[in-house]
Amino acid sequence: MPVLCSACTEKRAVLKRPKTGHSLCKECFFWAFEEEVHYTIVAAQLFKPGETVAIAASGGKDSTVLAHVMKLLNERYSYGLKLMLLSVDEGITGYRDDSLETVKRNQEQYELPLKIVSYEELYGWTMDAIVKQVGLKNNCTFCGVFRRQALDRGAIILKVDKICTGHNADDVAETVLMNVLRGDVARLRRCTAISTASEGEGVVPRCKPLKYSYEKEIVLYAYFKKLDYFSTECIYSPNAYRGYARTFLKDLESIRPSSIMDIIHSGENLCVREGVKMPVQGTCKRCGYISSQALCKSCVLLEGLNRGLPKLGIGKHHRLHDKILSQQPLTEKEERKLKSVDF
Ligand code: SF4
Ligand code: ZN
Ligand code: ZN
Repeated sequence: MPVLCSACTEKRAVLKRPKTGHSLCKECFFWAFEEEVHYTIVAAQLFKPGETVAIAASGGKDSTVLAHVMKLLNERYSYGLKLMLLSVDEGITGYRDDSLETVKRNQEQYELPLKIVSYEELYGWTMDAIVKQVGLKNNCTFCGVFRRQALDRGAIILKVDKICTGHNADDVAETVLMNVLRGDVARLRRCTAISTASEGEGVVPRCKPLKYSYEKEIVLYAYFKKLDYFSTECIYSPNAYRGYARTFLKDLESIRPSSIMDIIHSGENLCVREGVKMPVQGTCKRCGYISSQALCKSCVLLEGLNRGLPKLGIGKHHRLHDKILSQQPLTEKEERKLKSVDF
């Protein structure tokens, strides 16, 4: 006996929703998925009519589904948004060049303007060149810090009001777990926020419309909608710590699917005791980007790369910032400590 869709009770169910366990037909699943994203957007008041919004597009499943659903909901519910695609080219041969081809096809499919900013033009370094210098251990630190700033710079060039990213529920739950495991209270406090206001000049507000969408459902949505996306993993993907958190989360999900949502809710409801020291946000003395130190992380990492001292931005070397700022030479001992790539 074929199982009937539990929503319309007419059509044959083709899937069991990972989030709720309901058996649904394709159309009812599409509707449920889209309506939940719409509810998230409305409940958190993510956008205002007339705003220009850049969708951070990597060509992967999350951002492709985000672009598709944002365009659809913008039309269905007359949000009145002007949507654009914004991509970052990290300079990873055999990975990003191929995924950017997908974004270019998405641009045509969704008829949205596209802007691509590259690490090479912004920082003078591609990830290929960075990996050659720093090896395959901390490369994601460089990539993550540079990407954050690259998106802001691209958004400023495009003069958009907001950036929306394809972070899904699994990503958020993973980040909560990682911050708990690291004891990073400052990040733990802000990592579940669905949107961030501008923290200063050069920082564009961001939001995550897919914050409550399960990764498994995003894959199903992309699959059944036959969306054009790129599914290869980055060739430099050693992010071991996140990998462990991800595996742990997937194990929990297989026993209890609500674990993902439960972890997000725990993160949202955590309250930091009064008196706990938090980093004070200022601006980078070199580039003006937000920073709780004299130099922002991006400038320190870049300085390390340009001086052939890759360890400079990894770990805490704050006391060296003044020396860097005033172009003072480092001592031999400091140079030696910062030179090895085996970190
Ligand atoms: Fe960059 Fe690491 Fe992601 Fe590759 S896996 S794109 S190196 S952050
Ligand atoms: Zn149905
Ligand atoms: Zn800076």
